[in-house]
Amino acid sequence: MKVNVAQLRRTEGASARFLFSETFPPLQLGNEEYFFQAPMEVQLDVTNTGKSLLVKGKLSSVINVNCSRCLKEFPFPLAFEFEDEWLPIEFSELDEEESAFIFEKDEFCIDECVMEHVLVHIPMKFMCSEDCKGLCPKCGADRNKESCVCAGADIDPRLEILSKWNKGV
Ligand SMILES: [Zn+2]
Ligand SMILES: [Zn+2]
Repeated sequence: MKVNVAQLRRTEGASARFLFSETFPPLQLGNEEYFFQAPMEVQLDVTNTGKSLLVKGKLSSVINVNCSRCLKEFPFPLAFEFEDEWLPIEFSELDEEESAFIFEKDEFCIDECVMEHVLVHIPMKFMCSEDCKGLCPKCGADRNKESCVCAGADIDPRLEILSKWNKGV
């Protein structure tokens, strides 16, 4: 994703919209590898504030993930908005803006910048559905599809007594 801000950076108050649709390579995150199932759609509205370029962005894509309970693979939609500041290198030392993205030339790549936002928006755990029953810890059966023979056998007897009390038996 390359942007060219040659015009934009020379006119205070000017703004421009950039649209991208690009296929990204798999994302490596610790031991996990996430495959993008759809192109990364990015919309950027960039405004020259006089000091820097203020960026309002929207991103959407789909990644393949595994449910942390039943391990099933399913598509997880990514969709979020973000804000960035792009700062020309000649101003970066004056301000010491650490959060800003520093650019040197009129044309630059924003892939890294975009991936940083994606990383922030990927949850630690995924669930295929709110009420996923997960796998049986004893036989490994997918409890969403089948009820295995272990079901019911693993109730702690002390808990059983408690449940009777609760029902007033
Ligand atoms: Zn699941
Ligand atoms: Zn089982």
